[in-house]
Amino acid sequence: MPELFAPELKERAHTLLRFHQMDPLPPQFRIGQGYDSHEFKLGIPLKIGGVILPHSHGLGGHSDGDVLLHAITDALLGAIAGPDIGSLFPPSDSQWKGADSSVFLREALKRVAAAGYAMVNLDSTLILAAPKIGPHAAAIRERVATFCGVPNDCVGIKAKTPEGTGTDNAAIAHVTVLLRRRA
Ligand code: MG
Repeated sequence: MPELFAPELKERAHTLLRFHQMDPLPPQFRIGQGYDSHEFKLGIPLKIGGVILPHSHGLGGHSDGDVLLHAITDALLGAIAGPDIGSLFPPSDSQWKGADSSVFLREALKRVAAAGYAMVNLDSTLILAAPKIGPHAAAIRERVATFCGVPNDCVGIKAKTPEGTGTDNAAIAHVTVLLRRRA
């Protein structure tokens, strides 16, 4: 049977494995990635990052549709290899109907703390045709920072229009978080 890997690659993999087995502590840093999308619906409040923005349409969904808080929640849960937001708070469960999404974020932060980690910073990109996020970015940054217990300058809020993607009827959020081991 032919060798699948060159001997030097196999030796390097074994060295890395020994290195991890020798380190008795969990990783010092963990990274997490989250993504969410919600459809715009006429005549409901638009909530992004816990802030209500003036707009004709809001985001539909089982909860309050806060696409940014959902993506942050999933990024945090992903960083500790936990269950995702849909497993913890299934849309089929009527108790989450119209729920304030900060409840989901709080649970994720609780799990991060229980795993022995704290947030270092997060970065986000919102993709939506309207409204413009720029005028509200400072308010969203401040609210998210307060929720997460980090300084304002540890929360990145960026926004783009969905040019060429044909998704003008939806808001999309991408989030990356970095966690640090607390001890
Ligand atoms: Mg969602």
